[in-house]
Amino acid sequence: MTSDRQDSVSDVAVIGAGMAGLACARALVEAGLRVRVLDKGRGIGGRMATRRAQVAGAEMRFDHGAQYVTALDPGFATLLEAAEAAGAAAVWDSSGQRPRYAGVPGMSALPRFLATGLDVRQGVQVQALAPAGGGWTLHAGDAAFTADRVVLTVPAPQAAAILGTDHPFAAALESVEMAPCLTLMAAFPETDAPGMRFRADESHPLAWIARDSSRPGRARPGLSGWVAQAGPAWSAQHLEAPPEETAVAMLPLLADALGLDPAAALHASAHRWRYARVTRPLGAPFLADADAGLWLGGDWCLGPRVESAWQSGQAVAADILSRG
Ligand SMILES: Cc1cc2nc3c(=O)[nH]c(=O)nc-3n(C[C@H](O)[C@H](O)[C@H](O)COP(=O)(O)OP(=O)(O)OC[C@H]3O[C@@H](n4cnc5c(N)ncnc54)[C@H](O)[C@@H]3O)c2cc1C
Repeated sequence: MTSDRQDSVSDVAVIGAGMAGLACARALVEAGLRVRVLDKGRGIGGRMATRRAQVAGAEMRFDHGAQYVTALDPGFATLLEAAEAAGAAAVWDSSGQRPRYAGVPGMSALPRFLATGLDVRQGVQVQALAPAGGGWTLHAGDAAFTADRVVLTVPAPQAAAILGTDHPFAAALESVEMAPCLTLMAAFPETDAPGMRFRADESHPLAWIARDSSRPGRARPGLSGWVAQAGPAWSAQHLEAPPEETAVAMLPLLADALGLDPAAALHASAHRWRYARVTRPLGAPFLADADAGLWLGGDWCLGPRVESAWQSGQAVAADILSRG
C-alpha cells in the first residue's frame, strides 16, 4: 500500500478515542511517552456520544450512546470525581447502589475531559497496519502514521477487519460477541404526565427509555427530551433500515410508552450502533503481542460498560510501561 503523506513518528499510536483509547493514552502520556490518538469520528468519545439538535428555537442535547456511568473501581471513581470537580460530569441519579454520573453538558464531555492536552487526530480512519523497521506504519486513506507501538481500541469486529482473518488474534476476536442498538432521540412539549427519569424493560421493544432532559444541564423550558434504545432483538431485526425509517418506526413505540401523541413530537431522529453492547467479552483485560509492539483493548475485553473500557485501557498502558 502506498501513502501520499507520512506523518512524524510517535512512541505509541492509539487507534480509537473512546474511553479505552483515551484512558490508555493519558496514562502513557503521564509516564512521559509521545502518544498520538487517531479516530475516524468527528467527535471524541466513541460510544460516549452526544448529538445536538435545534428544537423549537432551543438547542437540545441527546446522549444517544452510553446513558450513564457508574464506578466500582476506585481509580475510575477518582476520575469521575475529578471530572465532576472540573464541571465535566455530575450525578444524574442516586436511586441505585452507586451514583449514576452523566457528562455535562453532554455525555461526550467526560471523554473530552480525559482527552485534555492529548494529541488526538479526528477524521482519521485507519485501514491497515504494516510492520515497518521494528515499528508500525498505520495507513489511513492517503495518510500514513508511524509509531513504535500500536494500541488498537476499536470494537472487536472492527479490530478483526483491520488485522485480517489470518492474524493470530483472529480467533480470540471472533469469540467476542457484541449486540447492536438502535437509538431514538425525540422531543415533545413538556407535560407533567411522564415524570420518570428512566425506565428499563427488557420485555418491551424499547428496552430503555430515559428522559434526557432530566440530566444535569439538559433542561429546556417547555420541552422534554427523550432517548429510547431498542432491545437487541428489535435492533437486529431493523438494523439495515435507514435512520429516517428507524425514527418513524420507533417514535410511536416511545409515544405509546409515555402516553403521548406521536403527532405532538417536535423532533425525532435515530442512530444505529452496529456494535453497541458487549454480550460475550474476551474475559481478559487486553490482547498483546508485546514483541511485535501491538496491543488490543476496549470494553469488549471485560464487559459492556464504560468502566470496562477504562479498565482495559489502563491495563494496556500498565503492560506497555512495565516493559520499559
Ligand atoms: C446505545 C448505547 C448505550 C450504552 N449505555 C451504557 C451505559 O448506560 N453505561 C455504560 O457504562 N456503558 C454503556 N454503553 C457502553 C459504553 O458506551 C461502551 O462500553 C464504551 O463507551 C466503549 O468504549 P471503547 O473505548 O471500548 O469503544 P468506543 O467508544 O466504541 O471507541 C472506539 C473508537 O474507535 C474509533 N474507530 C473505530 N474504527 C476505527 C478506525 N478504523 N480508525 C480510527 N478510529 C476507529 C471509533 O470512532 C470510536 O471512537 C452503551 C453503549 C451504547 C452504544
